[in-house]
Amino acid sequence: MANSRMPVMFAGHGSPMNALADNGFTRALQTEAAALAPRPRAVLCISAHWQSVGSRVTTAARPETIHDFYGFPPELSAVQYPAPGSPELANEVIELFDFGVVDGDAGWGLDHGAWSVLRHMFPAAGVPVVQLSLDRDLDTRGHIEIARRLAPLRERGVLILGSGNIVHNLRRIDWRDDAEPYAWAIEFDGAIGELLLKADLEGLAGYRERCGETARLAVPTDEHYLPLLYAAALREPGEPLTFFYEGIEYGSISMRSLRIG
Ligand code: ZN
Repeated sequence: MANSRMPVMFAGHGSPMNALADNGFTRALQTEAAALAPRPRAVLCISAHWQSVGSRVTTAARPETIHDFYGFPPELSAVQYPAPGSPELANEVIELFDFGVVDGDAGWGLDHGAWSVLRHMFPAAGVPVVQLSLDRDLDTRGHIEIARRLAPLRERGVLILGSGNIVHNLRRIDWRDDAEPYAWAIEFDGAIGELLLKADLEGLAGYRERCGETARLAVPTDEHYLPLLYAAALREPGEPLTFFYEGIEYGSISMRSLRIG
């Protein structure tokens, strides 16, 4: 029964347009999801695009597809991802914590950080999805503590999926497909990749002190970085970590994506 523990994943989701794309990244997502055996009972997604006061978990049985972006073509706003929610899983999440640490939220559905990735992984939308928000008031170590509490879910068939980007600087973005990556983007992405391979959680939490100026450029705001910590914190001793996609798009967006287990 060595394999009864579900892998954990982090997807560097990049542009919302990846939801509609057929490219190396989306094919890697398909391949990773197809290799999951057994198939997950449900997905718990920690998306860069849901920050809240306190940690919240979606309780809707039929979560709506949220189109939380502007300036993209109408076909992107027409995408529906009709995966069911799972009030049962939401309750399990709430019960992993002391009373009141994680609250249920009936209003939030699935944001594009979740569905732009999941529609490639589970195109039939048959796997229930629950989202856990990022508590705005926590520091990196606080997020790691929340993440560690989720570990029992891996033994219960739940795929925990972080969705963000290790490097995410929209001010520096260059929308040309052949944009050269910035040197600081390559450097920070590589440094974080090394820390991940070494399972250096303290280094990942202290990225600002460790990486200095490159961290300020790569992570001007931390909401896209934090979902990575949820995945990294769930790695058990000796578990393999694999980068299933790498690359820097539009100069300042790292697509580095990984599987643990
Ligand atoms: Zn995003």
